[in-house]
Amino acid sequence: MSYTFPRSAELYARAQKSIAGGINSGIRKLEVPVPLYFDHGQGCRLWDVDGNEYIDFQTGQGALLYGHAPAGMAEALSVQARKGTHWAAQSELEIDVAERLQRLIPGAERVRFNNSATEVVLAAFRLARAHTGRQLILKFEGHYHGWADEGLVGFAPPPDQWGTEEEPTRLHPSQGVISEVLEQFVVARWNDVEHLRQRVDQYRGQIAAIVFEPVLCNTGCMEPVPGLLSTIRELCDRDGMLMIADETITGFRFGPGGAQTHYGVVPDLTILGKAIGGGVPFAALVGKEASFAKFLSGAAVHAGTLNANPLCLAAAKWCLDQILELGSDHPKTLISLGQKTMQGLRALADEYGIPLRPQGPGLVFHATMLKPGAAEGPVTSYRDYVLRHDAPRWAHLRRCLLEEGVRAIERGLWFLSLAHTEADVDEALVRARRAFARHAE
Ligand code: PLP
Repeated sequence: MSYTFPRSAELYARAQKSIAGGINSGIRKLEVPVPLYFDHGQGCRLWDVDGNEYIDFQTGQGALLYGHAPAGMAEALSVQARKGTHWAAQSELEIDVAERLQRLIPGAERVRFNNSATEVVLAAFRLARAHTGRQLILKFEGHYHGWADEGLVGFAPPPDQWGTEEEPTRLHPSQGVISEVLEQFVVARWNDVEHLRQRVDQYRGQIAAIVFEPVLCNTGCMEPVPGLLSTIRELCDRDGMLMIADETITGFRFGPGGAQTHYGVVPDLTILGKAIGGGVPFAALVGKEASFAKFLSGAAVHAGTLNANPLCLAAAKWCLDQILELGSDHPKTLISLGQKTMQGLRALADEYGIPLRPQGPGLVFHATMLKPGAAEGPVTSYRDYVLRHDAPRWAHLRRCLLEEGVRAIERGLWFLSLAHTEADVDEALVRARRAFARHAE
């Protein structure tokens, strides 16, 4: 008997009378048949208000690297909550967290804190512009850098507005943004080294920074082709641009030093979110001291009432202590569990004749559902992904998975956590078999 969601449906109906649209983040509206209301989580499991239990591969959009409600973090939060949640001032905790980041991330000579990665992206762009006296930021098609005006340029252009291969469009997916924001960006195609060189040369001397997700997790989960990240480094050094790695998803997931250590590059600035707070609102900008100069002098403004509040710092300190304790070994566990999940899903897909193609490094992966007649092989670029991924069919399979107690992200991403075990993955695959059978009916 698959899950039903009467209580969630009831709450959603009630929510729409007070909360605009009934949800607090646009993507949550995509949850079918109804946005779910949750009651509690533990480890890799989550329970909704109808009493349905899920093996969770959404894990707080990747923030819950340590699973739901880890006991140590709950303790750290409750100790701190009794001492105070917010002082709008300094605390020793903030130095503790900063020093841990310095130990973990090569090139983290200085740090600053905010409450979301969206804010940190804005801080990084402001620093880069102040540092170089230039306006343009080069970013890549399909890369997501938060929901602010500047983070979404070129994120998800539809095929009829792609622009040419040479000049990808600077489209914005949202109304209501400052129209000039588009003029502040150059968009390039991901994983095309020659094209990147041409774009930089075309705007040489005007670009303040190149920003990128080291693994394009937000679209199809594509690792960088060999030579791409080192080319970004080389071009930044050549032209005095800042290299900004957005490690909101990859930071700590890929090991203590994040994806930059894995791929062997040292950016000027790194954006950290999600796993750094393990599920509390916490994010950091880390990087070379010289890149922070305009914040040090006060020439560029950085602020925020709740920045570095002790409650979130207590959680972040606990999270970073886990990473320090685990050392460089934890990605191996995540990779092997992720690959086991990917292989299991692919085997089920083949058995039921469903064109689902998991792709990615394992510790995070994307399940691409091929459109009828689409070519086989990994998706390699944003455009390739849009042309080959059958989003409505994936949405149906995802719903079947949800109704059998396996939860993945609406857009097809799956996140492993350190709380998942082999047994959890085995059980998830048993549940997934029922979902695949229903989907194929
Ligand atoms: N950058 C990347 C790569 C992300 O994936 C996200 C969120 O998913 C953000 C930035 C924005 O993070 P937040 O939602 O914490 O503002």
